[in-house]
Amino acid sequence: MTKYIFITGGVVSSLGKGIASASIGTLLQSRGYSIRMRKMDPYLNVDPGTMSPFQHGEVFVTDDGAETDLDLGHYERFTGTSCHKTDSISGGRIYWNVLTKERQGEYLGATVQAIPHITNEVKNFISSDLHDEDFVIYEIGGTVGDMEGVLLLEGVRQFINQVGRENAMLIHLTLVPYIKTASEVKTKPTQQSVRKLLELGLFPNLILCRSDNPIPADEKRKIAMFCNVKPEDVISAPDVNSIYKIPSVYHSEGLDDRILTYFNMLDKASSPQMEKWKKIENIIGNWKNEITIGIVAKYCGFPDAYKSLNEAVYHAGINNETKINIKWINAEDLETMNETELKNTFADINGMIVPGGFGHRGVEGKIKAAQYARENDIPYLGICLGMQVAVIEMARHLLGIKDANSTEFTNDCTPIISLITEWENNGKKEIRDENTDKGGTLRLGSYKCKITPKSLAHKIYGAEEIEERHRHRYEMNIKYEDELKKKGVIISGRSPDGKLPEIIEIPEHKFFIAGQFHPEFKSRPFAPSPIFDALVKACLKLKYML
Ligand code: GLN
Repeated sequence: MTKYIFITGGVVSSLGKGIASASIGTLLQSRGYSIRMRKMDPYLNVDPGTMSPFQHGEVFVTDDGAETDLDLGHYERFTGTSCHKTDSISGGRIYWNVLTKERQGEYLGATVQAIPHITNEVKNFISSDLHDEDFVIYEIGGTVGDMEGVLLLEGVRQFINQVGRENAMLIHLTLVPYIKTASEVKTKPTQQSVRKLLELGLFPNLILCRSDNPIPADEKRKIAMFCNVKPEDVISAPDVNSIYKIPSVYHSEGLDDRILTYFNMLDKASSPQMEKWKKIENIIGNWKNEITIGIVAKYCGFPDAYKSLNEAVYHAGINNETKINIKWINAEDLETMNETELKNTFADINGMIVPGGFGHRGVEGKIKAAQYARENDIPYLGICLGMQVAVIEMARHLLGIKDANSTEFTNDCTPIISLITEWENNGKKEIRDENTDKGGTLRLGSYKCKITPKSLAHKIYGAEEIEERHRHRYEMNIKYEDELKKKGVIISGRSPDGKLPEIIEIPEHKFFIAGQFHPEFKSRPFAPSPIFDALVKACLKLKYML
């Protein structure tokens, strides 16, 4: 029977609950079990699609086109499994579902209430779309004690009571701060946070303690005594310099053994397979090369807004045993720079990425960056908007269309990039228009792309058909294909019906490639995205071409 693990957070936010959950997932896989990872967030947005990356970090996109919390990205990267639309829910979605049912008369005139209707919806989510996985792991967003999380936790409490404690476990992640002036670690915030859980009728079976350093045995005993767990169930989660070291740290603290002991499954578990994590750890400590990649972005100084991108770069670095320094270049700053300033800005980078983005802010700077990379033979990877700005730049400077632009930014232009309202996915027609509400007009999720044989894209992917994830509204206008070709730019990837350009490249350039999709979402530490890997190889001047 499926076992359920719920992960809550206490004391403060930003303790890395997502990574802790993902690490638990991979540890259980390493013991031979199948897993599923899910996220429940208390906020009232129906999904994170329209939330600002400044506030909430990147919007992660699944194969099946859900716009989700960035933690689902951690789950996929750590466990190698793909998440689905049904794997995340927000407070807003729960209310939305309940209110929709209410409007449709499904409650048959009953008074609709937080309990049981909202909590039933929480329980529906917990048990929906499961496929006999050994473990399903639910990360609960927010911090225990927040008012807005109460109904989620009440749903969890009822669910645990229904399936029985032998089938469900609660892991609480807390902070154990070190107070310098007293030279002591402090356990009281953890005790108080566990008390908050108790008030809600929940109690932790295991406590994961985030701290600067490993937690001394005495303090573990103290936490155990006050929080009603065994000292072995107080697991120290000290800071480490790479998130990819966390599974090994948890493992050496006995976390997987303790979870399996709780469920009486230790005897049947296979011995831990931690080799792949060890291999990564060895590479991280012993880089053989070092390069700098410039990322021309809007949300500089806020790396969470580009979480998967950062990780994809890091994965490609691991694959090439190369330490990659990221130089964040503010796109808006580029707009007013003269030639010398531009040259100085790009002088110390080995390669450039222009990532995805929405809205006009910084776009002219990104166009300038693409031009600089093209004209100065700097390896360039354009992602989604990064492809669109490259095409606009080429139209302006290679084709002489001075007012070339995207209709996302102005209608007073020659539309090189524009809104296309119909497209095909797996033989089915999909339609959107400018008036559809903001949450639902995007081309979202995994789409097939046909690759031109012998192109750079073909060498990179080693296939004539690939699938990558999308999240955009606008498309390159294919009617400029022939003119661009005469200037040395080819379309090397397109939608299966041939209508939508998916990849452009410049064969004569050292490395210039851009895709309409987001390859970063599929990159994994053990299987880097081929296109990021190729960028790093190009920066290292490696001969990767066939
Ligand atoms: N804003 C562009 C569009 O909607 C690009 C989106 C992106 O980069 N994800 O088409």
